[in-house]
Amino acid sequence: MQPLHALDPATAEGLAEDLGLPRYRAAQLLAWVYRRGVDDPLEMSDLPANERQELRRRLGGRAVSVVEVQESADGTRKLALELGDGERIESVLIPDGERLTLCISSQVGCAMGCTFCATAQLGLKRQLRVEEIVGQIVLGRELAAQTPGAPVLTNLVFMGMGEPLHNLETLLRALEIVTAPWGLGISPRRITVSTVGLVPEMRRLLESTRVNLAVSLGATTEEKRRELMPVTRKYALQQLLDECRTLPLPRRKRITFEYTLLEGQNDSADDARRLVGLLHGIRAKVNLIYWNAFAGAPYERASTARTRAFQRILLDHGISTSIRESRGPDIAAACGQLAGRRPVGSGPNEGRS
Ligand code: SF4
Repeated sequence: MQPLHALDPATAEGLAEDLGLPRYRAAQLLAWVYRRGVDDPLEMSDLPANERQELRRRLGGRAVSVVEVQESADGTRKLALELGDGERIESVLIPDGERLTLCISSQVGCAMGCTFCATAQLGLKRQLRVEEIVGQIVLGRELAAQTPGAPVLTNLVFMGMGEPLHNLETLLRALEIVTAPWGLGISPRRITVSTVGLVPEMRRLLESTRVNLAVSLGATTEEKRRELMPVTRKYALQQLLDECRTLPLPRRKRITFEYTLLEGQNDSADDARRLVGLLHGIRAKVNLIYWNAFAGAPYERASTARTRAFQRILLDHGISTSIRESRGPDIAAACGQLAGRRPVGSGPNEGRS
């Protein structure tokens, strides 16, 4: 059985060949699946009627189904999704004027153990497959199209459950389908992959694609970062930043550094000044993120005043810095709040890179 949303030209041509069809039928099949969003071969009206039945036997159905959609007061929608084996993940649709961004999960749970993130509490249950990543985007696109007055899906961020670079081979295959003209045709400029800083994988990603890179920084000293983000034991903060200095960034592109502010942990003026020094020589912009609480978490969110003061110091040193407003916190859809609990919303808020 060929998974529907992992179909690419090679597998589509293989299917056509097996059915005794000419090669150009593969392109028609891809157009039905990705451009028109049709998943039942019986509806693919320009394919020969006899072969459509056989195609139906060989082509799998959807790998992801919507269990529940929760809508926040700010218009953010959290999709609770079920996979073929009953595992649950979440995607989040975030409207912002003309822009509609889908935040995508890349794993069930996460192995990275960031202490400020609810997803970390799940541990890594399993990697998502290509069709489960692409399937989230197909669903997000459909949901957007079905909503009167809503913008079409414009941007993708891999900031949902999981560390996308810990599932790199699958991510790269999914990105090929998402960006290809024969696939979903979404420009890589509109796609951001966020990582805690898996050093070799970051380079592979940028050598293989033209997507945007976001690095979750979280702290300005090795010691504090080791405490908040255990990945630092493998890739030290300094090693991560050295790598960022030499990554093959396209001209005029910058790396986004995400920094979740935790009161008394990483939000001091000294931290801000240290951050300025750390980013020296890197084409960088900074996103300051308000932390979202979850049950049992040992942190407090930094105050608005401290967040603004932190931003001021970075701006005064010429670093482009924005404060990311929390979206959908009332439905546990905000950053660091995704946990795929069952029923959705009953568990602690989950986290994101
Ligand atoms: S912040 Fe991202 S990488 Fe860290 S535990 Fe959460 S989901 Fe994993």
